[in-house]
Amino acid sequence: METSDDTHFGILPNFIENRKVEVSSEMRYPVFNPALGKVIGYAPETPKEEIDSCLESAARAQEKWCRVPVTERIKVLFDLRRLLESRRDEFAVNLTREHGKTLAEAVGEVGRAIENVEAAASAVYHMMGKNNLEISAGIDEEVYRVPVGVFAAITPFNFPLMVPFWFIPYAIALGNSIVVKPSEKTPVSMNLVSELFEKAGIPKGVVSILNGASRSVDLLLDSNLVSGYSFVGSTSVAEYVHKRASAGHKRVQAGASAKNFELVMPDADMGLAVRSLISSFFGNAGERCLAGSVLITLPENHDKVVRVFADAAAKLKLGYGLEKESEMGPLIRKEHVERVRSYIDIGEAEGAKLVLDGRTKRVNDYPEGFFLAPSVFDEVTPDMRICKEEIFGPVASVVCAADFGDAIRLINSSRFGNASTIFTSSGINARNFIKMVETGNVGVNVGVAAPIAFYPFGGRKDSFYGDLHPQGGEDHVYFFTERKVVISRW
Ligand code: NAD
Repeated sequence: METSDDTHFGILPNFIENRKVEVSSEMRYPVFNPALGKVIGYAPETPKEEIDSCLESAARAQEKWCRVPVTERIKVLFDLRRLLESRRDEFAVNLTREHGKTLAEAVGEVGRAIENVEAAASAVYHMMGKNNLEISAGIDEEVYRVPVGVFAAITPFNFPLMVPFWFIPYAIALGNSIVVKPSEKTPVSMNLVSELFEKAGIPKGVVSILNGASRSVDLLLDSNLVSGYSFVGSTSVAEYVHKRASAGHKRVQAGASAKNFELVMPDADMGLAVRSLISSFFGNAGERCLAGSVLITLPENHDKVVRVFADAAAKLKLGYGLEKESEMGPLIRKEHVERVRSYIDIGEAEGAKLVLDGRTKRVNDYPEGFFLAPSVFDEVTPDMRICKEEIFGPVASVVCAADFGDAIRLINSSRFGNASTIFTSSGINARNFIKMVETGNVGVNVGVAAPIAFYPFGGRKDSFYGDLHPQGGEDHVYFFTERKVVISRW
């Protein structure tokens, strides 16, 4: 039975100086509830004067905020954590509304955002420098880590809440201010979360939210008030942002697209492997930069893996994510459904064998929704586009490798290097896999190789531009602080 949902967010405001502020522009992008295929709001494109005034306020705020002791700065994170937790369910429901993921996936996403707040709370330890007494006769030397200035985060549609939280808590705990430009496709979550910032004790201007799309990004990239950019999105835009920011002598970290390979060895626990693969390939409707996309088998287990995997994929229940029984939600937009369907056409034209065709399934209760059921291709070869290009939807390509070495060569031939996984019960296979694959995140009997917030989020080749990776760990501390070396003689 259809769930009716008339929620409408109107034209989304920006969040500047701890207030929701109307945007004056007439240019705006529709925000959909993708399960219903209905517009639920609009994201405006922020005009230059409003971006400039937001950045000026962020710069003014940072001058004061960087002088607040780090022991005090982290206290706002404790309050932010508590406030996020208190509205976890509401934020999760909203994520399902604006993105389409199931409620269980949405609850998980809010949990991941909270985890980043927890990880950033150890900023006091992270900011500790190094020193030597008597490095030379009568000379001491020490390194301090100091805040940098104003940062901008430009984030994608697929994790509207988690990805901004890869940056906000670290940037502010380390003494910076940050301006977040969420995806124009999913801007509602950050709008709702902004209601917590002042309550958590974050001073005016330290965290701001600006709406917009590529025009706003260009204005942010051109501003001299921004010291660094954290970007997450597709490879073409990541490359563009990285080039343009670097040319302006700014620091930049840019997570990008992916094509992830998952190898099932004949000695793997089949039950565990297939459950994990289903969640990896079709969770979040395949719109995850860590989603499995190419499933590699060996001749000994190929037929069985394909049969069990395709059967399980065929049974997934599609529906509105707010309904308990839904196991897979819609894609983000109608155009994206068309794009993913075009890859199914491409796979057929390339000669792969379509053993499960997601185009034939309907979600009768939601005829206007942007649904596309899982598809599985067998007999895929390394030269096919469906084996090489990011599809970002529920399409699995199965390649039967000749042996372990052949599987590793296939994985390493990809232009992308976000994640890869091996399913095996052999320690030596797992160890060799870890040593040999050229991906930044590696799973062993784990379908979605997502690092917990305390670890950096890997990513290599065309899946990452820059040097210092997002999420917890040293990289982020280096990204959001500057070193100051003091040489003293007394
Ligand atoms: P996208 O590149 O279209 O958009 C990302 C951000 O860039 C948005 O805020 C958008 O407004 C802005 N943008 C879009 N086009 C622009 C342009 N021409 N100039 C300047 N800014 C522009 O990405 P998306 O569709 O929102 O997200 C999906 C992509 O993100 C996938 O490729 C996925 O693999 C990738 N992703 C990567 C990671 C990672 O950590 N590596 C994580 C999540 C998503």
